[in-house]
Amino acid sequence: MLRITGLTKTYKTGDKALKGVTLEVPAGQVVGLIGPSGAGKSSLIRCINRLIEPSEGKVFLNSLDVTGLSRDDLRLARRRIGMIFQEYALVERLTVMENVLSGRLGYVPFWRSFFRRYPEEYVANAFALLDRVGLTDHSDKRADALSGGQRQRVGIARALEQDPELLLIDEPTASLDPKTSRQIMRLIVEICRERELPAIINIHDVLLAQAFVERIIGLRAGEVVFDGPPEALDIAA
Ligand code: ADP
Ligand code: ADP
Repeated sequence: MLRITGLTKTYKTGDKALKGVTLEVPAGQVVGLIGPSGAGKSSLIRCINRLIEPSEGKVFLNSLDVTGLSRDDLRLARRRIGMIFQEYALVERLTVMENVLSGRLGYVPFWRSFFRRYPEEYVANAFALLDRVGLTDHSDKRADALSGGQRQRVGIARALEQDPELLLIDEPTASLDPKTSRQIMRLIVEICRERELPAIINIHDVLLAQAFVERIIGLRAGEVVFDGPPEALDIAA
């Protein structure tokens, strides 16, 4: 479970991006985070994984106090938080398998040239993940040979490879066509339920969010202005 209490973020410029955000995301729940540009969505995501330092407030991931970790211990938090990105953030010239393993093995070409093969249990696990995201026969393809939807599937498999306790997902479908976007949203929600993973999806497409997630949180000017099931959201408001 993710628990955030009284989170504020004031940038050096004086911009108050978050003004006391409190929320909980239980295991298996996928939250769609919506709000106009400048509402504080990316500031919230970045405070949770401490890409930026919150000004006040706490972030707990299960029993781990993420906000209490020293800079040196941040690696620990980052391994527990899987990230999925709009532009996939794959290494284009590496294979699908190498991309999936890149989080664990670091500089994968080093492993390839030096050890010639990767530890077997990692490979077996990565194959299982590729199977789950529908890329069974694509492990040896280079990332730059894939379609957008396939790339995002690799991004999902790579995030799961670190066996995270939370997924933070930034505009996962913004570069995809509508049909592929729906497939990716469905896949993310199914996987989070199966693995009992809490997830926050920063998503600008409100209709897409409403169609797939069970809970929507609306941010405006750094505050939570809506928190409820998608059917309770009045689009006009
Ligand atoms: P969103 O992701 O919802 O578009 P952001 O979190 O990017 O919102 O921005 C929230 C507010 O914080 C905005 O007013 C934005 O201008 C400001 N902001 C974001 N990043 C920075 C930064 N690095 N320095 C100063 N102000 C920032
Ligand atoms: P996003 O697409 O995530 O909303 P933005 O376009 O808001 O991103 O911001 C892009 C970058 O500019 C981010 O790194 C953000 O921190 C920074 N930024 C946004 N607003 C400001 C601001 N008012 N002052 C300084 N940096 C900002």
